[in-house]
Amino acid sequence: MAIATVNPATGETVKTFTPHSPREIEAKLSLAASSFAQYRLTPLHQRSEWLNQAASILEAEAPQLARLMTLEMGKPIKSAIAEVQKCALVCRYYAENGPGFLADEPIETDAKLSYLRYEPMGIILAVMPWNFPFWQVFRFAAPILMGGNVGLLKHASNVPQCSLEIERVIRDAGFPPGVFQSLLIGGNQVEAIINDPRVKAATLTGSEPAGMSLASAAGKQIKKTVLELGGSDPFIVLESANLEAAVATAVTARMLNSGQSCVAAKRFIIQASMADAFEAKLLAKFQALKVGDPQLEETEVGPLATPGIRDDLDLQVQKTVAMGGKVLIGGKPMSDRPGYFYPPTIITEIPPDSPGAQEEFFGPVALLFRVNDLSEAIALANDTVFGLGASAWTNNPQEQERLIQEIEAGCVFINGLVKSDPRLPFGGIKRSGYGRELGKEGMREFVNIKTVWIAHDTQS
Ligand code: NAP
Repeated sequence: MAIATVNPATGETVKTFTPHSPREIEAKLSLAASSFAQYRLTPLHQRSEWLNQAASILEAEAPQLARLMTLEMGKPIKSAIAEVQKCALVCRYYAENGPGFLADEPIETDAKLSYLRYEPMGIILAVMPWNFPFWQVFRFAAPILMGGNVGLLKHASNVPQCSLEIERVIRDAGFPPGVFQSLLIGGNQVEAIINDPRVKAATLTGSEPAGMSLASAAGKQIKKTVLELGGSDPFIVLESANLEAAVATAVTARMLNSGQSCVAAKRFIIQASMADAFEAKLLAKFQALKVGDPQLEETEVGPLATPGIRDDLDLQVQKTVAMGGKVLIGGKPMSDRPGYFYPPTIITEIPPDSPGAQEEFFGPVALLFRVNDLSEAIALANDTVFGLGASAWTNNPQEQERLIQEIEAGCVFINGLVKSDPRLPFGGIKRSGYGRELGKEGMREFVNIKTVWIAHDTQS
């Protein structure tokens, strides 16, 4: 994939970039290594100060950074601004809480003193996706920088200007040169970087094939990885739920980022007794959504990020329909305008072996299923290779408890939208990946947890 800014709302190529040469990559690795030697010794309060400064820059520049994001990947401008603000929040969160997370942790044993010390690992490589071009990077950058590591970012090839701007924001915040660098490279150049002994660990957010490729390369070098991959999150609505609230949240949960979110609700599993009402209300809300130019404030659904994303989604829809699925609204690309637009779509009567039941749909397509009871809902929710998040709607405490206990996912939200929050760990199980980002747990992924044990004084 060429490294370029292509406006998904028009299909126009705005700017192209030459990938870094092996010599340029070597210069960046060498700078990262020498920066780490110094940076690891910086006092925690200094790192906090720089992170707070990064937050202030993000807040001050939110409108222009958001416009750039929208230009490169088509996210509606209002959510782009909110994304930049959330990045400021994660910087402030680790600036405030990082020192506590990194403090020595005493553990009572037979020693005079034993404790855990959290030490930085070194250069950490992040391979990141385009769908939340700022948020995905800052939720990596803030904890690793607070922890004393240095970062190398290989961003998705369609958001090169976002990648360079993130590097600039971190540099302008005061972090020393080389502490966070952006690499303009393709996925095929990642393995060589993993193989470099100066790189100590890696994280990837993206698709399963990319995750497998990165993790196997890292496995051969015995290097730690965190993987945040795809999801096909269930959104379960049971009889006792508040239907109005559930439908309103269902729309937000599916349409977030024009449907291109790993934790978007993708499979709507509705108890039969209320399924007709849910379907009718969802349809009315989908009909009312404003699809259009993502740079306009009023737009709710923008284009998909690339022609490939649009075509893959359409293929999944067409296969599902050919196997018996029924389209209530939408169902084919919008050919009446330039760019990569796909309309809000609802599919019902989805056959169990069709893509609609088995695969992740990365776009504004809601897949509706009917079940008779809670047990059927849980079985269907778990009938997927993924296990990222789940949203479940019921006011019955026993049902809530069963859902919490039996849903196979990294998180369960009861009567609410699945969302990431700097304070809460985020990540998946099954083929959605492993490891956690955010919270204390996210910061602890990329530190050496050193056990220290000091004997009682002995008489000489
Ligand atoms: P993708 O193709 O896997 O791209 C993600 C990143 O991986 C890009 O930087 C890409 O670089 C790179 N990449 C691709 N193939 C690679 C390889 N073989 N080795 C090393 N790096 C490689 O994914 P996408 O289509 O952009 O993103 C959509 C997927 O990401 C969805 O499945 C979604 O659910 C998942 N996602 C998960 C989360 C989460 O937190 N769990 C969040 C967001 C997205 P190039 O751009 O240069 O190809």
